[in-house]
Amino acid sequence: WDMFVLAFIERAFQQSYRKDDFVIGKKLGEGAFGVVYKVSSAKKGSPKGDLVLKKATEYGAVEIWMNERVRRACANSCADFVYGFLERSSKTKGGEYWLIWRFEGEDTLSDFMLSKEFPYNVEAKILGEGQGLEKGLERENRIIQTIIRQLLFALDGLHSTGIVHRDIKPQNIIFSEGSRTFKIIDLGAAADLRVGINYIPKEFLLDPRYTAPEQYIMSTQTPSAPSAPVATALSPVLWQMNLPDRFDIYSVGLIFLQMVFPSLRTDNGLIQFNRQLKRCNYDLDTWRSTVEPRAGPDLRKGFELLDLDGGIGWELITSMVRFKARQRTSAKAALAHPYFNSEGLLGLSFMQ
Ligand code: ADP
Ligand code: MG
Repeated sequence: WDMFVLAFIERAFQQSYRKDDFVIGKKLGEGAFGVVYKVSSAKKGSPKGDLVLKKATEYGAVEIWMNERVRRACANSCADFVYGFLERSSKTKGGEYWLIWRFEGEDTLSDFMLSKEFPYNVEAKILGEGQGLEKGLERENRIIQTIIRQLLFALDGLHSTGIVHRDIKPQNIIFSEGSRTFKIIDLGAAADLRVGINYIPKEFLLDPRYTAPEQYIMSTQTPSAPSAPVATALSPVLWQMNLPDRFDIYSVGLIFLQMVFPSLRTDNGLIQFNRQLKRCNYDLDTWRSTVEPRAGPDLRKGFELLDLDGGIGWELITSMVRFKARQRTSAKAALAHPYFNSEGLLGLSFMQ
């Protein structure tokens, strides 16, 4: 009940908005289920600075629900959500959902990764200048390590709240200039298992380049869409049984691989890798043993990076990219992996 009372009070004092409160600017993105714009609002009491507006169709209601839940339970994991409402119109049947966030920054992880400068183009943003290291493996490893840690940290927040994102990919990870960290965006495909919201797998929403082989987060034998009270009682058990969070971990593993191997950063490179991995029955060690003997400098450099500190990076990456969900590590366990403190005390004090 506390949560409902709090939500009610919050709502009563919260600034509310309607369509005319926003001046629409540049288009930032367009997906199958909505369009995203940079906007501003002159309304009194609205957050300072630019905002982001997503006009969403039928799934907007779920996305608003997810964002409000995140704001209360794990605000730092995702972009700052400001407000969501249904804008009724005569043109579109049922109207459009409008979702408003703070504008976190210009760049997604995808933008950084598509630049030739990656990962150095992220270094000054998250580690500060003057690392005292020369360009090379050690320094790249330290930057990648920090990005992956921030991503796992955000994901652990979501998972601990009971939310599986299901569309983790570089395009859905934004760099927040304010907090100097990467945050997760786009909860349009997310599922909240504890309350049964968006419970039916919407596999058609998923991006095939980053999806885990199981595709569905819950086994198909799981009863579909239980009513909310039943789901609340049941879902911790279901969570344990099906480990749906491991779906997102697989995607993180793929992003990790893309950071380490530049040839996997293009769409074609990633698609080709996925084919190879499938042929190896999703076993990274097998994949390595097939490609390493005839690897070019690009692949060899990646393996060398993962082999630093006794192969601790390779150990972590293989614990994320596994066929069986239950054999994959969790976000929380991954954060405790020695890969993240191979820098010793120095690393820890610099990279909170
Ligand atoms: P879509 O459903 O179109 O994928 P997203 O929520 O992923 O919608 O947003 C599309 C794009 O808009 C993102 O890739 C990002 O570039 C930008 N964007 C979304 N939210 C924010 C935000 N809070 N701050 C800055 N840019 C954002
Ligand atoms: Mg997106």
